[in-house]
Amino acid sequence: MTIGVLALQGAFAAHQQRFADLGIDAPAVRTAQELDGVDALVIPGGESTTMSHLMRTNQLFEPIAARIASGMPVFGTCAGMIMCASDVLDGRPDQRSFGAADLTVRRNGYGRQLASFEVDLDVKGLDSSFHAVFIRAPLAERVGPEVDVLAEHDGVPVLLRHGACTVASFHPELTRDARLHQLFVDSLPASR
Ligand code: GLN
Repeated sequence: MTIGVLALQGAFAAHQQRFADLGIDAPAVRTAQELDGVDALVIPGGESTTMSHLMRTNQLFEPIAARIASGMPVFGTCAGMIMCASDVLDGRPDQRSFGAADLTVRRNGYGRQLASFEVDLDVKGLDSSFHAVFIRAPLAERVGPEVDVLAEHDGVPVLLRHGACTVASFHPELTRDARLHQLFVDSLPASR
């Protein structure tokens, strides 16, 4: 299984570094051709309105949507979570998302700058807490019945899995702890 990292914008290099920490080469994906070469995709944090726009101008939105529809595993963090959600509140009217996970997210739902914070989370599947960095994070306001909640903060789900789609409202790539990247690798069909 090759895991690609969408590299149009945002914190893609940090994701590649976390996979490198695990001894995994995770190539950058910037074109439809590069997408064809990967089996799973990470959509990083950054700015979802810009990312949505760049995916369309780079003719990547439809190809990614088609791959997701045919079961490609995805891991979306922060802006990437917004890109994976079925419903986006406070987005730009022309912003699109993949609907890979049945959830409603509110962009910048924790407030503005004040709402950038760090917290230790208990994560299902990890035996000690994970230090999570939230930066203008999306707030999960509705979570569909088939979504598995892997971590919560203040009663709000912040790490979720729906089928082959894993999303985090924080930035697991920005701490030197690759355990959530390992959890994603472990969730891939070939690793089962
Ligand atoms: N607020 C950003 C957005 O709407 C996400 C922030 C982030 O990825 N750190 O895309």
